[in-house]
Amino acid sequence: MCTIILLYKTLENYPLILAENRDIRPGRLETPPQRVYSGDNSIYCAIDPKSGGTWYGLNSSGVTIGLTNRHPDPDSPTASIGRLCLEALTQPTAKEASGYLLDNFDFAKHRNTNILSADKDNAIITFCDENPYTLDLNPGIHILTNYDFAQEPVTMEEKYRMIDSIHRLKRATELTETHKLGNTKNRDDAISTLQKILSDHEVPKDNNSSHFIDYFKICCHSSRDFPWETKSSSIIALSKDGIEDSIYLYAGGNPCNTKYEDYSDILRDST
Ligand SMILES: [Zn+2]
Repeated sequence: MCTIILLYKTLENYPLILAENRDIRPGRLETPPQRVYSGDNSIYCAIDPKSGGTWYGLNSSGVTIGLTNRHPDPDSPTASIGRLCLEALTQPTAKEASGYLLDNFDFAKHRNTNILSADKDNAIITFCDENPYTLDLNPGIHILTNYDFAQEPVTMEEKYRMIDSIHRLKRATELTETHKLGNTKNRDDAISTLQKILSDHEVPKDNNSSHFIDYFKICCHSSRDFPWETKSSSIIALSKDGIEDSIYLYAGGNPCNTKYEDYSDILRDST
């Protein structure tokens, strides 16, 4: 699970706006966005206390990262991909962050994952699996779910991952078009639309697997039969003038019923 929406160079004063819903098993804890020191670079991100890593954040050089797991069970006993993400956020550029991921992803130890790294100059997806590779993104709107569509699914589990990933991808794309997000030039309007998209509950009309219907929702809610939920939702708007003028919003629950709190103040004091 997890859905990422990136607005890359579609707003003049904000070269990127990165939004993500984090979907995970209920009960998994996370701490709200905070400043983490790492040498000369500060990192601003929420932390998963279980792994000590993160899935989303930015650093003082303006590098942002968002992760979507391809393996459905983030509790599988492997090395933490969240730690790798946090390490990648020590890099001074998105290109170097992507290079770090390519160099340090270990198929034998880590879960398969898609990781988006972006700054004002580059946006790159690193597909981390048995044969890791990168994809450079052009300016525009990009949506990332939990599958690498360049690959054929092999197992039933992979097929299932593909189906719900495709639906969320299609639905989010449809909503960006409905709301004309690509033409939106105002930061707050763009953020407001992203919040609406991340709160969406639409499911495929032809779906006949009601047991797993929640897998298809961009904002998903757990139930007795469905052990997944959107644990949090985050939006970073990176200003062209640097991180001190940037915005970091975080909702510590389903975005449909949880207010986004403004954590931008943690970016202001970079001394
Ligand atoms: Zn919801």
